[in-house]
Amino acid sequence: MTIDIDEVKRVEAAKARAAAASRRPSVILHRTPFVPPVAVAAEGIYVDLADGRRVIDGVGGAAVAAIGMGNKRVIQAIKDQAEKMSYIYNAQCSNEAAEELAHLMIEQSKGAFELVGFVSGGSEAMEGVIKLARQYFYETNEPKRRNFIARKLSYHGNTIGTLELSHHMARRIPYEAILDHEHFHHVSPAYAKRHQKANETEDDYVKRLAQELDDKFKELGPDTVIGFVAETVVGATAGVVPPPKGYLKAMKRVCERHGALFILDEVMSGMGRMGTMHGWETYGDGATPDIQAVAKGLGGGYATIGAVLLNKRVADGIKQGSGWWQHGHTYQAHPIACAAALEVQKVIMEENLLQNCRETGQYMKELLIEKLQSPNSPASPYVFDIRGNGGFWGIEFDIPPEQDFGRNMKMRKRFGALLQAKTMEKGLICIAMDGGADGVRGSHGILAPPYNITREGVESIVDIFADSVEELVKEVLL
Ligand code: PMP
Repeated sequence: MTIDIDEVKRVEAAKARAAAASRRPSVILHRTPFVPPVAVAAEGIYVDLADGRRVIDGVGGAAVAAIGMGNKRVIQAIKDQAEKMSYIYNAQCSNEAAEELAHLMIEQSKGAFELVGFVSGGSEAMEGVIKLARQYFYETNEPKRRNFIARKLSYHGNTIGTLELSHHMARRIPYEAILDHEHFHHVSPAYAKRHQKANETEDDYVKRLAQELDDKFKELGPDTVIGFVAETVVGATAGVVPPPKGYLKAMKRVCERHGALFILDEVMSGMGRMGTMHGWETYGDGATPDIQAVAKGLGGGYATIGAVLLNKRVADGIKQGSGWWQHGHTYQAHPIACAAALEVQKVIMEENLLQNCRETGQYMKELLIEKLQSPNSPASPYVFDIRGNGGFWGIEFDIPPEQDFGRNMKMRKRFGALLQAKTMEKGLICIAMDGGADGVRGSHGILAPPYNITREGVESIVDIFADSVEELVKEVLL
């Protein structure tokens, strides 16, 4: 037997770190109800934990790691930029990396967009979208427009403004009393699998949703509405819900009819995640947004960065008005973040990763169906839906109400929470959550590997995920 010295050293070092960590409890205010394990290193889809375990990240954090971790080109670009210029205040100077990245993004959009604004992440981008959309009407002499229409079953960020736009009840509840209910309104989600009626065609369902939006415009007064906002593909609330065919186009038409803006949140579903640069290239049937937010896949996790993209109408309105974006944040267009994102985007293009993302995505779908929906699988009666595209897959479960552990138990005992813990125990990081809000009963899991995942990588992820589901079903449902 040969001994891998490097592996022995890695495990020994990890044990020493774990011993040190156990003597020193965490004093971080974590965003989970439990103290999460400490990750110490990551490469590709592999993450080393302080306790010496190596796990696979099957969801790229939160659909962030677009090209996996530890990419040498991006690391070099970050080093080069840090040496050249680590920071410059965007209110005083622009910088080369930001300028080049903006040009690249405009070129990639094939005419859809004319201007880009950079911020530090998804919530900041969506907060910026809310303000930009209002600013547009303020500057184009329609100051009466003050209402947003978003959707139930949506998530647009965790700042106060973006929570007002969102209908993610679990995240809103503690703040409900201080959220603005006057200017933020919500219509039905586009969630065919649960809400399309049995006697309704997809086309009829879309018409019903468009009619509801039109009615909401009329109820509020069409000339008071700033815009309609939707995630191109729902992410955080229901485990990957793509829109029905023709939906985005129909909703855009309603906005156009009333002179309002059609706004897409592609923080999670954009920048290649669906196997196309923008989610609307897969689902829009030609409908492009007036304003769009992107974030996660833009920097791929190498930098905290998000962006707002403006089409000609909005860009012209702003240019002819004040000419600037009234949304000043200290780290806007941060040079190191922009240099990192620029290199991530070059890697995606030069290595043809969107094609790989589409191909491996279909393979992931096939494997998920084969393993979780085969008649031999004990899990199959509880698997309600497997859906997605490219590198974004949702697996929704149907847990019978009498066994939906949420009713009398703490969140942590529900199927999704248990599944997340189970996959981690077996060596896979995934996102698994529980429903309840907005008519989503089923718990769900999300898988979102990097666009350069191999077929073997897909197999490892699906194997652990499916084994975990089956084991959990046997433990708690059978
Ligand atoms: N919009 C959508 C659609 C998201 O999925 C998220 C994050 N999951 C956000 C906004 C907020 O992004 P961030 O967490 O980077 O602030």
